[in-house]
Amino acid sequence: MTKILITEFINQNSLDNLKKKFQIKYDEKIFEDKLKIENIIHNYEGLIVRNKTQVDSNVLKNAKKLKFIGRLGVGLDNIDIEFCKNKNIHVQPATAMNADSVAEYVVSSSMSLIKKIPMFHNGTIKGEWPRTTIKSTEINQKFLGIIGFGTIGKKVAEYCEKNGLKILAYDPYVNDKNDTAIDVKLSNLKEIYEKSDIISIHLPLTNDTKNMINKSSFSKMKNKPIIINTSRGSIINENDLIKAYHENIISGFALDVFENEPVESNFYNKIIPGMNCILTPHISGVTAESNIRVSDFIVKKIIDFFN
Ligand code: NAD
Repeated sequence: MTKILITEFINQNSLDNLKKKFQIKYDEKIFEDKLKIENIIHNYEGLIVRNKTQVDSNVLKNAKKLKFIGRLGVGLDNIDIEFCKNKNIHVQPATAMNADSVAEYVVSSSMSLIKKIPMFHNGTIKGEWPRTTIKSTEINQKFLGIIGFGTIGKKVAEYCEKNGLKILAYDPYVNDKNDTAIDVKLSNLKEIYEKSDIISIHLPLTNDTKNMINKSSFSKMKNKPIIINTSRGSIINENDLIKAYHENIISGFALDVFENEPVESNFYNKIIPGMNCILTPHISGVTAESNIRVSDFIVKKIIDFFN
């Protein structure tokens, strides 16, 4: 019977369906012990991971029987894709299955930050009643700059357009917006930095995108934008971001992803009550609904693959 290793959490019902077809080892904590994975991976034809399992060359060189890697999510930066190509291992992301969850996070965090909810909350619970000292604005007719106009970027544009935002998008690999009915202007980074009130990042982490939003990018921002990052932490330089906030170049930020995860104290110690920011533990794509969709999608793909 084909053997499958699952190293991170999966929806129970989807797991039960997998067990009808395959011999499964499911340990949702094993990703913390990479050496153990390296030592047992030779037994398995299939591997199912999220983003915490490092599927690097040390794992893959021992994966003598591995034919299929299912990714319960979409970012593939934890998997050595080149190595997989060379070894003819099929890598399957759960494309689009958590896009709605991420888009809802972007809309809700943008709304909260433009309305300065974290600051009002902090003042209110301290008994300050900051009704006139903190100024908030409406989202309608503001500019949203989307960097990375793929599956999630487009979904975000769709949600935000409905809320009255004007959309600019930058993606050098997309030159035709006709595959979307959304009213969006394909633009460049300069215009996005200069005009946007909100900037949302939806890039894969690659050598090109690492550290892409840095001191130089912040210095071009003219409209004190809010920055939302749900893609990968290393795409934004975290120190430059905090500096830009304190220098009043940006007016807030929501981070769901961090350079190091779990986020380390040298970063979170810089966040003090009263800042207009929202930090969350890489959950924008993880909701009850998306967990079912992502898991069912990968289960179907792996069953089809080995059929
Ligand atoms: P996608 O591949 O559909 O879209 C990414 C887009 O970025 C593509 O259109 C691509 O052309 C563009 N791009 C690549 N390099 C670029 C560059 N240098 N400059 C500008 N654009 C560039 O991926 P997606 O499904 O939209 O997901 C985007 C990212 O979001 C994923 O790679 C993943 O890291 C992250 N993500 C995070 C969560 C979460 O829970 N926080 C959930 C889902 C996805």
